[in-house]
Amino acid sequence: MLDQLYRQLVVDHSKNRRNHRKLEGEQIKQLHYKNPTCGDVMTLFLKLSEDKRIEDISFIGEGCSISMASASMMTELLKGVPLKEAAKLRQAMEAMVRNGEVSEEIDLGDAFALEGVHKLRARHNCALMAWQALDRAVGEETEYEYR
Ligand code: ZN
Repeated sequence: MLDQLYRQLVVDHSKNRRNHRKLEGEQIKQLHYKNPTCGDVMTLFLKLSEDKRIEDISFIGEGCSISMASASMMTELLKGVPLKEAAKLRQAMEAMVRNGEVSEEIDLGDAFALEGVHKLRARHNCALMAWQALDRAVGEETEYEYR
C-alpha cells in the first residue's frame, strides 16, 4: 500500500512539477547542473533573503521521473526555510537515498517517497541531483554548513 502511494507521489511530482519555472531579477542565483550518470539536466533558481532564508526557489529541467520528482519535492520543501535548516534536510536526504536511513526527527515531506531509491544504486544521483545543485548554488554562503 505504502509502496503504491509512494509511486503515485513520484509520478505526480514528475508530471505536475511544482515550482517548474524561471525566477528573474538581480538577486536571483542561478545554477545549471547535469547528472552525468543519467543525462538529467536542470537549472536551479534561488532567491535568498537578507537573513539567509530561501525566499523563493524554482527549477527548470528535463530528465528521468526520479530526478524531476525529486527536484519538484525539494523546491516545495525548501521554500521559506533558512539555509542552515536546508543543510540539515540535505544531509537527511543523502542518508536516506544512499543508505536507506530515515530520520524520525527530520521531515522530508513528499521526498520520503524516494526512500526506495536507495536500493537502486544507479539512480542515487538522479534523486540527489537537485540537492547537489542546491549545495553548489549556496556553497559560498557561510551560514550553510554541515552540522
Ligand atoms: Zn535520472
